[in-house]
Parts: sequence; C-alpha cells; structure tokens
Amino acid sequence: MLNDPALIAFRDQVRAFLAAHLPDDIRLAAARATSVFIDPDVSLPWQRILHARGWAAPDWPAEFGGPGWNEIERYIFAAECALAGAPNLAPMGLKMVAPVIMHYGSAEQRAHYLPRILSGEDYWCQGFSEPGAGSDLAALQLRAVPDGDDYVLNGSKIWTTHAHFANRMFALVRTSNEGKPQAGISFLLLDMKAPGIAVEPIRTLAGDHELNQVFFDDVRVPRANRLGGENEGWSVAKHLLTFERGGKYAPGLICRLERLRARDDIDPVLRARLDREAVALKALQALELKAMRGVGGSPALYASALKILGTETAQRIDTLACEVAGHAAWADADGQTPAELAVAVPRYLNDRAASIYAGSNEIQRDLIARTMLG
Ligand SMILES: Cc1cc2nc3c(=O)[nH]c(=O)nc-3n(C[C@H](O)[C@H](O)[C@H](O)COP(=O)(O)OP(=O)(O)OC[C@H]3O[C@@H](n4cnc5c(N)ncnc54)[C@H](O)[C@@H]3O)c2cc1C
Repeated sequence: MLNDPALIAFRDQVRAFLAAHLPDDIRLAAARATSVFIDPDVSLPWQRILHARGWAAPDWPAEFGGPGWNEIERYIFAAECALAGAPNLAPMGLKMVAPVIMHYGSAEQRAHYLPRILSGEDYWCQGFSEPGAGSDLAALQLRAVPDGDDYVLNGSKIWTTHAHFANRMFALVRTSNEGKPQAGISFLLLDMKAPGIAVEPIRTLAGDHELNQVFFDDVRVPRANRLGGENEGWSVAKHLLTFERGGKYAPGLICRLERLRARDDIDPVLRARLDREAVALKALQALELKAMRGVGGSPALYASALKILGTETAQRIDTLACEVAGHAAWADADGQTPAELAVAVPRYLNDRAASIYAGSNEIQRDLIARTMLG
C-alpha cells in the first residue's frame, strides 16, 4: 500500500503529530481501557487536541469540517493512531449521528449540531433498542404523540451506551401503529436534560458501568428536532446502521496482537496460535482495504461481513491475551505486568458483547444470506 511517496509523507506527518501531541496520561488510560467505548474523561481531551489540528473527524467531508482525506489516508490515520496507542473517540456523535444529520438534516440542523459534535461540546448516545425490541428493532414501542409543536414521549430505551455521560440522544420512536411496523417510526434528536428523562445504570458481566436503561415519562421534544419525515425514521436508521457496522478493525487488533507476540515468555504451542491469528488478521486487513476501494460488494454487505470478522477476531485475541497473561503472571514475579495483560480478563469479559451490539452477528449472517441468496 505504501509505495507512493505522497502517502509515505502523509504517514510521516501523522506519525510526527501523534508523537508530539498524544499526552502520556491519555495513552496510558487508553492502554488500561477495558472496552472499545472509552470514557469521555479520556476520549474528549484527545478529541479536542485532534479538533485543534482539524483531524477529529477523518471521515467527514471538508465542507462540514473534515480534513478532506481519501479512503487510504483515513486508513493510514487509523493505523497510526492505533500504533501510537491513541484512544478511540466516541462513535455515537462523530460516526453515527453526524452522517445522517449531513444526509437528512435541514440546513439549521446541520449548522447547529455538526460543529458541536466536532468540538465535543455535545456527547451523544443511541436510543434504538428497547426491552422488547433488539434484533427485531421495528417492534419498538416508545410512543411519541404529537401535541402542539412538540412530541410527548413515554416508554424506555435499554442497553444505551454512555447515556449517563450524554447530553444528547438520537432515538427511534413510534409515531404511528398503522401499516407495517417499520412505517410508523420517526427519528428524533433529543436533549438528555429534558424533564421526565431518568437514566438507570446496568452493570455488565465485567463490572463496568457503560450501559443504561433510559426511562421517558411525558418528555416533551420539539417536532423541529425530527430528522427526516414523520414515520420515515426507518430509512434514516438503516442509513445510520451502515456507518455503525462499517469499521476499521484490523489496525487496532494488529497492534494488540503484535504486543502479545513481542513477549519472550510464551511457549511454542501458544506462539503458534498467535502466529496463526496474525495470518487471519492479514486476511481481515486485506478485506478492509478491498471494502475501502468498493471492490466486489455493496457497502452494506461489507459492513455486515467486517462486523462479524472484526468482532470474532477481537474475541479470539481476547482469549489469547488471557492465556498470555496467565504465562506472564507465572513468570513476572516482580509484579510489573504491562497494562495490556493487566486488563486481559476484564477486556475479555467486556468484549463478549461485541458479537451482540450493533446488530448481533447472527443477524449479520442473516443479512448477508438474504443479500447474496435473495
Ligand atoms: C454492550 C452493548 C452495548 C449496546 N449499546 C447500545 C446502544 O448504545 N444503543 C442501543 O440502542 N442498543 C445498544 N445495544 C443493544 C443491541 O443493539 C442489542 O442487544 C442487539 O441488537 C440484540 O438485541 P437483544 O439484546 O434484544 O437480543 P435479541 O434480539 O433478543 O436476540 C437474542 C439472541 O437471539 C438471536 N436472534 C434473534 N433474532 C434472530 C434471527 N432472526 N435469526 C437468528 N438469530 C436471532 C440473536 O442473535 C441473539 O443471539 C447494546 C448491546 C450491548 C450488549
């Protein structure tokens, strides 16, 4: 990929910036993270540093404040950030709601929300799932009844990542029970401080608090906060889910695996398994590069395939990290366990959810089968 002198110069520019501007405390906090969702006290300061350089939103078009990079430059940027140990930025604003605001938003909505997402002033959460609506998302029941210039919302959302940090939510709500369930859904942008919203924590298997259930009790949301037409929210959601699932898994996973392979206290059997995973990662990276060039499949098809391969590879690396940590615990009598190994078990537990969120991997397989086989 990197034979082109212009791309090599670009990579060097990014590398030099990261070396000069990624603070050690942020790098260390990222290494100790037990989830791909990094808490905002770590991710937002880094987002502000990137924003000052114009690099907070590599995927955004230049007209909205993106750096105007092509796909290969974005991939190089992601790879360099992973190599430097930079934390992930929260995807809910920058990668999920922003593209749909660009696509479906009015001029006023774009002008209001996009700069606040870029700067980190607004921190978003995603209100799609409900207790009775996950894989079957169209079954959602959170009711939004028109009343004057507002909708009045009653019901609840569940598994809402970082709702306890967010000041904004994008939500799917039911505005009609007529016709197909998909035909009665609208997409709202709402203020988490609105009266009647209550956020209750859900503790995960790993003991983390990153998930919540959010309750709505007569919450008023201006009708002007709807994105797209009334009862046309399903199209907006489908557009968004492509961005949620699409991803660059390989750069970060390669770095994690290489840190494990660099250890010299690993027995040959475990080393052979680490080496085999390195080959699988090369294949994943090749597929990501192919998806990036748009060769051989639709974006939705690639999004589903990469979601399955990326999350399943991450889970295998989690398992290997636990085994390497076991060896290291036995060998490192001085107790100087590196961060990567110290968090191996909580990270393993947290990542069990990766094959469930953003649409479970069974559902992704179903989508691929339907697209390929009709
Ligand atoms: C860590 C985490 C973070 C999340 N964050 C958010 C968030 O921020 N916002 C949000 O809105 N949601 C979020 N979710 C919710 C997530 O999108 C749902 O959990 C997911 O869509 C699955 O829905 P469900 O949990 O209701 O399971 P169900 O839909 O009840 O599925 C249960 C099992 O049945 C399988 N299954 C269901 N239907 C089929 C089928 N037709 N064919 C084959 N298998 C099937 C599923 O694959 C799964 O294994 C999060 C979930 C997790 C675990």
